[in-house]
Amino acid sequence: MESPAAISINNLVKRYAPAGNAPAKLALNDVSFDVPQGQIFGLLGPNGAGKSTLINILAGLVMKTSGTAEIWGFDIDKDIRNAKRSIGIVPQEIVFDPFFTPFEVLENQAGLYGVPKAARKSLELLGQVHLADKAQAYARTLSGGMKRRLLIAKALVHTPPVIVLDEPTAGVDVELRRQLWELVSELNAGGVTVVLTTHYLEEAEQLCDRIAIINHGQLIANKPTRELVEMAREKVVVVTLDGDPDTLPMHPAFLKSEKTGERTIEITYDKDRSNAGEVLAAVQAQGLGIIDVTTREADLEDVFVHLTSAAKEPA
Ligand code: ADP
Ligand code: MG
Repeated sequence: MESPAAISINNLVKRYAPAGNAPAKLALNDVSFDVPQGQIFGLLGPNGAGKSTLINILAGLVMKTSGTAEIWGFDIDKDIRNAKRSIGIVPQEIVFDPFFTPFEVLENQAGLYGVPKAARKSLELLGQVHLADKAQAYARTLSGGMKRRLLIAKALVHTPPVIVLDEPTAGVDVELRRQLWELVSELNAGGVTVVLTTHYLEEAEQLCDRIAIINHGQLIANKPTRELVEMAREKVVVVTLDGDPDTLPMHPAFLKSEKTGERTIEITYDKDRSNAGEVLAAVQAQGLGIIDVTTREADLEDVFVHLTSAAKEPA
């Protein structure tokens, strides 16, 4: 049996009312999925897909139109207090009072959550996000990366079993992205269930145990990362020939065969129906001499493009 859900979302709908020039918007269209306990779960989707809307409903910042959500078994309508205590949310935007120190930021947040003084662990948390030496610095003197790490510590003051990060690495440089990935992995290794939203496929593929894809407010996939990547059906073999081919090799299992250079051809095939050996045999059967061969692996991007190109935006 699967472990119980850290978060369970059922038939969630959010329709934003029209305001000013903005028309009404169906931001979430009957979304249901579970986040298993103990995982790093990625909510992946292009900008405007509805990711932040979903996170903000869990955070109590946006009112859902209909549907239900449970956090650690607590319904967000019926058991608001326990639901809130079970989750830590790291918003995308960085907002701090510049005159508080990281230590004070965490103490204030602990106060908001009613964590008794003796149970607070601000210094320990600062250590966990590698900011121990900045405990008494002003928040305004921290670098962007340090501020992001402080936000993560802030979301952890009440020791929630689940932490949600909304686009933790949007617009950050490669170095900081790697730092944040490490931190997320460390937290998860320590037993925290992590949900993160991202529009970076590579990030989801590298970091997440499971990925749900959302597009135009609809859930279009929800699978273990490996299975999702496995869904990529197409593979490509790039062949360099010893001469200019007169005719392109064809075979029933080829989806496409095209000339990409004077002596190179690219053959796309369905990996369930053929393999690289068969492809090369078909090339040689046409009397073409092979000088070099490379294959291109399918990745999450192939699946993503395939799935999202099929989905239509709702009216
Ligand atoms: P994502 O986080 O995936 O980029 P959002 O949840 O922010 O997507 O937005 C989903 C859709 O809802 C977008 O089309 C966005 O313009 C719209 N939207 C977001 N917030 C509001 C709002 N407060 N009022 C009206 N429309 C909104
Ligand atoms: Mg967003």
